[in-house]
Amino acid sequence: MVDSRFDWGVTRVTPGQFRSQIEFALKDNFRFYTLTEYLDNSDFHQNRVAITFDDGYESVYQNAYPILKKYNIPATVFVNPNYLGRLNTWDVNIGGLKFRHMERRQLTELSEAGWEVGSHTMNHCDLTCLSRQAAEKELSDSLDFLKKNIKNFNYFLAYPFGNTNKKVINLCKSLGYRGGVLMGNGYKGLPEAFTIPRIGMYLLDTLYSFRQKLYVQNMRLYYNIQKILNICSNCTVLVKKNSWS
Ligand SMILES: [Zn+2]
Repeated sequence: MVDSRFDWGVTRVTPGQFRSQIEFALKDNFRFYTLTEYLDNSDFHQNRVAITFDDGYESVYQNAYPILKKYNIPATVFVNPNYLGRLNTWDVNIGGLKFRHMERRQLTELSEAGWEVGSHTMNHCDLTCLSRQAAEKELSDSLDFLKKNIKNFNYFLAYPFGNTNKKVINLCKSLGYRGGVLMGNGYKGLPEAFTIPRIGMYLLDTLYSFRQKLYVQNMRLYYNIQKILNICSNCTVLVKKNSWS
């Protein structure tokens, strides 16, 4: 999320933070790519970055897009087709504040402006907790949606809550996915293409920590912080499961 509204969660940045970070990276001559371009680009440039957003919140369209558009920077967004235009009722927020996902027309606009769109499953369910049949439906329906409706889609999946395993990866492969991105790093022993690491940006980040992340410095510390934050987001899944029972 790129949102300035008060919330207890830290998995967002404010529009002001985001603008400073982008301008900082531009000043340091970073080049920006969509995820597919980033992975396929053989013209290796020293300073490269691919910005990705999970969940497709409306705040990304409202607050991040205008900043990126100004500098002609593309990004990649991973969406849950069943939540387009709806509130994030899949998440449990301590403060009870709900956030809206972007509408289909906003997603179309981003795609037509050069953004890449990938799958985050249909309903933001933890794939490692679903039956094979249910996981297959989440994965194939979301990819079908992108193929039918989005001009500039990719064959990558962002695992909801960053959770995956061997079974999920084999299923992704059999359905035509090319790879999967994590929250943070980890999952040793699983195929590299399906455990692509990402470093998260949070409300707590300063320009100093942003610079370190950009230059891949002190990564052990940042990945460990991210691990703790991921555990917190997994706890919200448990709360949600309990609230169903
Ligand atoms: Zn998500």
